Amino acid sequence: MKIDILTLFPEMFSPVTRDSMLGRAVDKGILDIRLTDIRDFSNDKHNKADDYPFGGGGGMVMMADPIFGAMEHVKARGRKVIYMSPRGRILDEAKIRELSQMDDLVILCGHYEGVDQRVLDYWNVEEISIGDYVLTGGELPAMVLIDSVARLLPGVLGNENSALNESVYSGLLEHPQYTQPREYRGMEVPEVLVSGNHKLIDLWKLEESLKITKERREELFEEFISHIDDRNEDGSKRFSKDEKKIIDKLK
Ligand code: SAM
Repeated sequence: MKIDILTLFPEMFSPVTRDSMLGRAVDKGILDIRLTDIRDFSNDKHNKADDYPFGGGGGMVMMADPIFGAMEHVKARGRKVIYMSPRGRILDEAKIRELSQMDDLVILCGHYEGVDQRVLDYWNVEEISIGDYVLTGGELPAMVLIDSVARLLPGVLGNENSALNESVYSGLLEHPQYTQPREYRGMEVPEVLVSGNHKLIDLWKLEESLKITKERREELFEEFISHIDDRNEDGSKRFSKDEKKIIDKLK
């Protein structure tokens, strides 16, 4: 997946795109992240990229011209262009899955009061928000989007199934996790997890996932329950008798 990022602060990205899991995806050639400094396309002698808003109001607005220059530089016409924005559609599982199917993105990061509307109109931009709160810039939201999308790309995580087993993707929140040591400060790992009985372990995980989802995210739980009689693509039942028993107990 090739991603062009247009930003006033390219240096903010390097700890994330150079190190960590994303860094490894870049090294493996799964992700190709290119940073473009919008200020490089300013025609002002002080490299100014923002100005006062027409109609008044506080703060500054990022000017159209440097952003148009950066868009032209990355040949954004015809590509999927995203603007990180608190006005946008919330980034959720469905959106992340949709974006993970693409192989080419342009992401524009705003600052100050945002960007001149003509940028968004001309470049046919989709606005995406990472949540109902406001950050000072689009760089952290862009990193959230890239990280969440990259995890779904084949080869980024060690175990390709693991992303889909995690909270929300599986339709449920994840069960508790434990690692060594077996006993820590008097707290024991649940016996079943060290039993070696994989069938019982899977049933325990399902039950714990159901309990935690019911307690914390009623709407996810209800959605999950409404699909328990669905069948897999090959026509087989989605849940075994034992699994159904656990689901019925918690309904
Ligand atoms: N005046 C804008 C408004 O009320 O919609 C907010 C501008 S915000 C201070 C500056 C920049 O941060 C935005 O242009 C956007 O790129 C980014 N940003 C802030 N909050 C965001 C969020 N929740 N999701 C995505 N981007 C966000």
